[in-house]
Amino acid sequence: MYYGFHNSISGKRGYAAALDAAAAMGTTAAQLFAKSPRSWKTRNLKPGEAEAFRDALAIGPVRKTAIHASYLVNLGASGELWEKSVFSLADDLYKAALLGVDYVVVHPGSGDPERVRAGALKALALAPAGAKLLLENVAGGGRKVGRSFEELAVVIEGTALGVCFDTCHAFAAGYPLHQDAAGVISELDEVIGLERVPLFHLNDSRGAFASAVDHHANLGQGAIGAALAEFVRDPRLADKTFIMETPKEYDAMNLRTLRSWLADA
Ligand SMILES: [Zn+2]
Ligand SMILES: [Zn+2]
Repeated sequence: MYYGFHNSISGKRGYAAALDAAAAMGTTAAQLFAKSPRSWKTRNLKPGEAEAFRDALAIGPVRKTAIHASYLVNLGASGELWEKSVFSLADDLYKAALLGVDYVVVHPGSGDPERVRAGALKALALAPAGAKLLLENVAGGGRKVGRSFEELAVVIEGTALGVCFDTCHAFAAGYPLHQDAAGVISELDEVIGLERVPLFHLNDSRGAFASAVDHHANLGQGAIGAALAEFVRDPRLADKTFIMETPKEYDAMNLRTLRSWLADA
């Protein structure tokens, strides 16, 4: 199992700063934004930046990396918003290929699931081969695509697309992780296939069960609570990558919690 946090890329080292932060905590995975997640503006690579990132990856201890796409991306939209979304995602896939990042994670968006599929495939076609593109399950609300496993399965069917499973989102969407973590994993396996889910976002939930509220909590301190330990300890997930998107100021505490859960296994 690989695990780590979503880390910042600010500072002199740029993208490599996310790996520096992971290494400083002794974690083996890291997620980052390749550009501001709330702007359409891209961020150009500085000279030597990709090399510095690849060098840091080679040194370790980080082995698995992910880029989280912009929150503005809506692959279910139509017209200009869809076009901008596709280009923004293709830009992240391009960066991932240059940096040697394993996964690019995107929220599908809202609207038409067929547009989501077409947009994801177009972004992949525009970018050089490299990272695997993963659609993240969402908490729900409105016409958001990706609340249910069935919906994600239909979107990725027959493609190279995968899924990133966020525990907070699944719980808020009505998957009973607080009562039956093993059962939810079985359902994920039956409907999507665990081989198509290499990456997990490990977050507790401030929102109640089936509330559709996407509000992350520290491990064990939200509405999922101690049951989250059973989830992360499930042997079927032993080779997966876990990223915590918990409140940043509590990284050290969440890391201690996760390690105590894994030591108990
Ligand atoms: Zn996300
Ligand atoms: Zn997430």
